[in-house]
Amino acid sequence: MKTITSRELESVDIELGEDMLQGNRILAERNRRKLDEAGVYAVDILGSVGSGKTTLVQQMVIHLSGKAKTAAIAGDLTTTIDADRIQQAGAEVVQINTGKECHLDANLVHRALSELNLKALDVVFVENVGNLICPGEFPIGAHDRIVVVSTTEGPYMIRKHPYIVMETSVVVVNKIDLAEIMGVDLGQLRKDAQDVKPGIGVVFTNARTGQGVPDLLQLLRIPKS
Ligand code: MG
Ligand code: ZN
Repeated sequence: MKTITSRELESVDIELGEDMLQGNRILAERNRRKLDEAGVYAVDILGSVGSGKTTLVQQMVIHLSGKAKTAAIAGDLTTTIDADRIQQAGAEVVQINTGKECHLDANLVHRALSELNLKALDVVFVENVGNLICPGEFPIGAHDRIVVVSTTEGPYMIRKHPYIVMETSVVVVNKIDLAEIMGVDLGQLRKDAQDVKPGIGVVFTNARTGQGVPDLLQLLRIPKS
């Protein structure tokens, strides 16, 4: 079988791309300082459309209510569907519509953070744009990153996204109630994640019922207030 890699095709673009990624990293560090100065913990949530990111954020907001003051930044190409849902769960939300951009970057997140009264907050959830490819290359300054895969996406989601898993603190396997129907082996998904990144946290959830959400919150480095 003949295989062509993008590196061969785009060698001219690589230098330009590196500058842009480096610029983003500097802005991500600025975001981190801004968050740390205000004593706010932030988590970047990645996953395909339909993996359950928004439902997980809703559940985390609900589980933390009365314990931590939460807000969310919701990235989406054009809609406010996710932002509306998170707001209903009780968190203040800033919506970022990225248009055709398929990821959030540190600059967009900086602008969104400026819309929040960080001093009054403990936790900011950042729901990234729904795909598992390029958001991985754009750190936004968050303290942790979660990758959400769902059993409905089939058995190979972890193995097919090793780069993003390497840059992740916790893998969430969602929709575990459908694992058997989908023929997905949860133990194998855990093993796949730990093969890519030994020691990585893996949590099994059913975000619709909240199952597994306390386990997820425990793996995140949310400051105890
Ligand atoms: Mg969503
Ligand atoms: Zn992108």
